[in-house]
Amino acid sequence: MKKLTDEAKKRLRSRSRLVHLGRDVEASRGFVNVPPFRGSTVLFPDVATLKSRKQRFTYGTHGTPTTEALSEAWSAISGAAGTALVPSGLAAIVVSLMTALSAGDHLLMSDAAYQPARIFCDATLKRMGVETAYYDPLVGTGIDALMRVNTRAVFVESPGSQSLEVQDIPAIAAAAHARGACVVADNTWATPLFFSPHAHGVDLAVEAGTKYLSGHSDLLLGLVSANAEWFPRLRKTVDMMAIPPGPEDAFLALRGLRTMELRLREAERQALALAHWLAARPEVARVIHPALADDPGHAIWKRDFSGSSGLFSVVLKPAPEHAVAAMLDGLELFGMGYSWGGYESLIIPFDCTKYRTATRWAPGGPTLRISVGLEDIEDLKEDLDRGFARLAAAVDGQA
Ligand SMILES: *Cc1c(COP(=O)(O)O)cnc(C)c1O
Repeated sequence: MKKLTDEAKKRLRSRSRLVHLGRDVEASRGFVNVPPFRGSTVLFPDVATLKSRKQRFTYGTHGTPTTEALSEAWSAISGAAGTALVPSGLAAIVVSLMTALSAGDHLLMSDAAYQPARIFCDATLKRMGVETAYYDPLVGTGIDALMRVNTRAVFVESPGSQSLEVQDIPAIAAAAHARGACVVADNTWATPLFFSPHAHGVDLAVEAGTKYLSGHSDLLLGLVSANAEWFPRLRKTVDMMAIPPGPEDAFLALRGLRTMELRLREAERQALALAHWLAARPEVARVIHPALADDPGHAIWKRDFSGSSGLFSVVLKPAPEHAVAAMLDGLELFGMGYSWGGYESLIIPFDCTKYRTATRWAPGGPTLRISVGLEDIEDLKEDLDRGFARLAAAVDGQA
């Protein structure tokens, strides 16, 4: 097998890339996969090489053949100049903000961003002299009016965590760039396979590899890809922080990469089937899923995205808390827990009214987030159907 040329890396279609990128059969001594390289010390052949600083690998914190294979593959599918790897998705958010911001700067953050990211902004960034202002995720070109002279970064997440508002990222990016601000995006929901961040004006794109890249709920990983303008500064920031992911996690993420498109496409298919089924249920007030034609974010989603993932939300008609608990507690297949994007289905109640500050979220009923797994869709419907029966029984006071 020939080594992939740079021309081939660009020419090949996404499924071929996912199979062949980041593999160096020579370095793996003929084995198909790059092994998990473990190590701190890297040896130099002589003093001249040691002093030249030209050896590719120099120390464990600066990368290994395993992490290099993963970051090169990720950069190629993201259309990025380079990618940094860190031990979790939240660490990737932290690193991207540390790359873009300095003391005295102002950050504009989507009100629908992943909640733990808000905590980092409101506590740590604040302590370091960076002020955060939250904005309506649907602001579009209106972001311009919120920019201050010291606004150095605009953070987007589309669709938003839990509430799934679709943002007009090209419009926001154009306004941010016109004033010299960096655009940071949490692209975990779509992954680079369904939304090309850098082609839409994003400078630093965050992915929680914990979700679809892993696909098996067995690792934590974060990736930050950058365009040519921002990669040198990202690289410097990450090298100084010295927080590489563990070798086994990088290895497992590379393994996940091989099947990521197949799993995502299946999650998309399953989620759409379940979303349509739920939308027709009498207990459901609204299904929030950007790929549904009546979703408020549908037009922008259709313009900018090439697919939808397996994560969506549901607003139930008003029901008491204990009835929703009766529905969820008895589920056979749906697990209840944080994270998502694994092979197994998850469901979790959520309430974003508690932490929003720039917008008021009033869904009008209990809200549930569903991550659809690879189980048979009919079994999943039957599980939820029995759940709805428990909900009705509890409302009627029979439970
Ligand atoms: C899960 C998640 C993260 C954080 O990833 P971890 O690896 O769990 O730290 C960041 N952003 C989004 C949108 C997520 O869903």
